[in-house]
Amino acid sequence: MNRLEGKVALVTGASRGIGAAIVARFLAEGARVMATDVLPAPPDRDGDRADFATLDVTDAAQWAAAVAATEQRFGRLDCLVNNAGIIRFSRFDDLDEAMMRQIIDVNLIGTMLGCHAAIPALERAGGGSIINMSSADGISGANSLTAYCASKFGVRGFTKALALELGPRRIRVNSIHPGGILTEMANPTNIPRHLYDRGYWIYPAQRSGDPADVAAAAAYLASDDAAYCIGTELSVDGGLNAGHYYMTMPGAPRNPTA
Ligand code: NDP
Repeated sequence: MNRLEGKVALVTGASRGIGAAIVARFLAEGARVMATDVLPAPPDRDGDRADFATLDVTDAAQWAAAVAATEQRFGRLDCLVNNAGIIRFSRFDDLDEAMMRQIIDVNLIGTMLGCHAAIPALERAGGGSIINMSSADGISGANSLTAYCASKFGVRGFTKALALELGPRRIRVNSIHPGGILTEMANPTNIPRHLYDRGYWIYPAQRSGDPADVAAAAAYLASDDAAYCIGTELSVDGGLNAGHYYMTMPGAPRNPTA
């Protein structure tokens, strides 16, 4: 499909994982894309519809430069995907102020800075779409993740409030809530999928998700198919946040290792 033909997107955290999958899907849908990251660009991404800019999302000056580079290269900006994020697992007793600030800085302040930088360009294009990457952990809590949950709940609330302000200015703001997507973030020791997925028996989907699953949701929200989606939170989590199982009652999955 070519649902993004004519559109220009800027994607953060795009050198790997979900961000890289979003870039690939947007290109496949006909968009032109400015991929950005603190990491170098992956070697196989070029061509006349894609470019790369270094962007640390915590740096307002780098944001201004990346948006300017996008408009210079492609003439417009229609979609911002605030995808970059970090996670740190730690018991609350071991969570120090510096770690808390770092996580809020990248995940929440980075999203805010991106919106500030992109909104004038989106308005120059006649409107557009902002997609903020929250998390399943932005909908319900998780152990070892007090700081991360706070940041992702923050992204979710920020998205809704901004959606109200920007709707009348023809900019749609929505959030995606992935859960259990097989990337370096979720699987830093690179456990093989068939072993990794054993832990997912508790998910209705009975497996981990692919970055492409999230990219499909982002492509939808970026497209005109989502013209009436404003302040929407779109879960891509294999059913994790659909509810919880009563394990002793019919309909619950079986623990394969029990
Ligand atoms: P990855 O860690 O695989 O990729 C994230 C990318 O963002 C990396 O290239 C990373 O670089 C980059 N990044 C980190 N800090 C910054 C920064 N300050 N400025 C710009 N780029 C930065 O993560 P995922 O692809 O798994 O996650 C993408 C998003 O999806 C994140 O917001 C994450 O919180 C969210 N998410 C992921 C889930 C999952 O299961 N994977 C579930 C729920 C949400 P570096 O390696 O240098 O840090």
